[in-house]
Amino acid sequence: MKLLKEKIQSEGKVLSDQVLKVDSFLNHQIDPQLMVEIGKEFANRFEAEQITKVLTIESSGIAPGLMAALELNVPVVFARKRRSLTLIDDLLTAEVHSFTKNETNQISVSRKYLRETDRVLIIDDFLANGQAALALAEIVKEAGATVSGIGIVIEKSFQPGGDLLREKGFKVESLARIASLAGGVSFVEELEV
Ligand code: 5GP
Repeated sequence: MKLLKEKIQSEGKVLSDQVLKVDSFLNHQIDPQLMVEIGKEFANRFEAEQITKVLTIESSGIAPGLMAALELNVPVVFARKRRSLTLIDDLLTAEVHSFTKNETNQISVSRKYLRETDRVLIIDDFLANGQAALALAEIVKEAGATVSGIGIVIEKSFQPGGDLLREKGFKVESLARIASLAGGVSFVEELEV
């Protein structure tokens, strides 16, 4: 997605050859116009999948997840990383090891919001080792629902998550694929429409 790649080039900060900081438009301050375009792009890429629900993870997945859900005209649910006092329902849970924080969290979703009949689009901001997406897929499986796709805003293709998810048979669509962060951001060469 051209607009997103331009934004990454102009505002992204390479923190190391493994980590990209994009907190001026995605992870802290959020660019609403860019999020609208991201939502449209996800909706286009998954329009054939008969999605009934978007599932993401707090907090950085919520903005792109919400915009994708708006375009697909379905609800969005976000997995919580901390137990909420009001989250007293029957919970679906999975363990996720955080790439950036190097800690393991239990994430949870109320069973009430995922049904066996749901065709779920998983959305996240970054794909590194694939742990967050796999944990979300596990929650969908626990609910007896179907993962119909995984949409990622920024995939770091030099890390193993993308291959891992595709080898498992998931349809993964990433709006920007980074080939390397060594000496600056370089993207995977793709036909751009
Ligand atoms: P994974 O579970 O695929 O290893 O990592 C994905 C999660 O880690 C994302 O939800 C994202 O929050 C975080 N993450 C991974 N790599 C980066 C990165 O380079 N920059 C930022 N800002 N977050 C990242």
